[in-house]
Amino acid sequence: MNSDKVNLLGLDRQGLEAFFTDIGEKAFRASQVMKWIHQFGVEDFDQMTNMSKALRQRLNEIAEIRAPEVVLDQAAADGTHKWVLRLDSGNCIETVFIPDGERGTLCVSSQVGCALECSFCSTAQQGFNRNLSSAEIIGQLRAAYQYFGATHRDERIITNVVLMGMGEPLLNFDNVIVGMNIMTDDDAYGLSKRRVTLSTSGVVPAMDRLAEVSDVSLAVSLHAPSDELRNELVPLNKKYPIAELMAACKRYAFAGTGKRKITFEYVMLDRVNDSPEHARQLIKVLKGVPSKVNLIPFNPFPQSHYKRSTPEALTRFWEILMAAGITTVTRRTRGDDIDAACGQLVGEVMDKTRRSERRIMMQGGQG
Ligand code: SAH
Repeated sequence: MNSDKVNLLGLDRQGLEAFFTDIGEKAFRASQVMKWIHQFGVEDFDQMTNMSKALRQRLNEIAEIRAPEVVLDQAAADGTHKWVLRLDSGNCIETVFIPDGERGTLCVSSQVGCALECSFCSTAQQGFNRNLSSAEIIGQLRAAYQYFGATHRDERIITNVVLMGMGEPLLNFDNVIVGMNIMTDDDAYGLSKRRVTLSTSGVVPAMDRLAEVSDVSLAVSLHAPSDELRNELVPLNKKYPIAELMAACKRYAFAGTGKRKITFEYVMLDRVNDSPEHARQLIKVLKGVPSKVNLIPFNPFPQSHYKRSTPEALTRFWEILMAAGITTVTRRTRGDDIDAACGQLVGEVMDKTRRSERRIMMQGGQG
């Protein structure tokens, strides 16, 4: 499986230009190869007819285009689609496509498992194995197009990408940036930066770095309006508490040109974080930050001890935020019949953190 060849799938324009100039070729080869790989879906250098035979042969010797293999695809009743991609022995990740009228959103994973231990997320239960390479990140987008028997050139099936699959994207910073560069490059997928959204649990220093190198849309998994409660739901909060997180959000929102709204994700957990008082606290927390709020009804999974908020609690929460002038939407639950909804992505993770073992021991201890 492992080879010494350079996998061109995972190189963005800068990386490809460096690759070609290193082998004594002109930098414009980067554009050509990008189009072949991402727009025409070609994996075989011999099909790249605008390059000389000698160059194609050279590429065959030193490079490859290697994508993760799709081992399972499942369609949900509502048109949502989930793919399981095998990366290496024992490790699989999941990617989800969510069609919605004119819009087609691909939910992309950034790590095998996740190292953060958010108490309401099933990916967290899997433990963590490793970061995805940039080829494995962009390979998810390419695999989705290939499944539909299309290339990005024929049809814009995927209009939006959200880095909301397995993993914490800001803890795999460099590979995620390269992946997003390819998504937004006109010679590859040409997605608008506004339509690529990175979601983070709030890795504050990396948020500042992100503002320096990219201007994709940012979503922040807030989920609680007080440090006490957030420490419990999103343990990363102990490291980067709400005040620091909100200051970083403000810096991101006002970095670059103009003001960009940050999307705050808020999972609705029955009688945990969904009272009118929580809503009023949240309004205070968001003060001064250009924001939108995305309320996510909790998606249960085996071993989860939380329940989804009642529709009444959800509506009341929504009304309080709206009355305060905060744009608030409730995320429709999609694809839950194939476990493709938020927080249900598990893949297959060779856990290196021994978390799954600890969990089984704990359960044994209690039972
Ligand atoms: N680690 C990043 C990327 C994951 S995004 C982050 O935390 O933002 C996935 C989103 O779904 C996050 O907002 C996450 O908190 C939310 N989520 C996780 N588990 C969930 C569940 N069981 N039900 C609903 N939403 C969940």
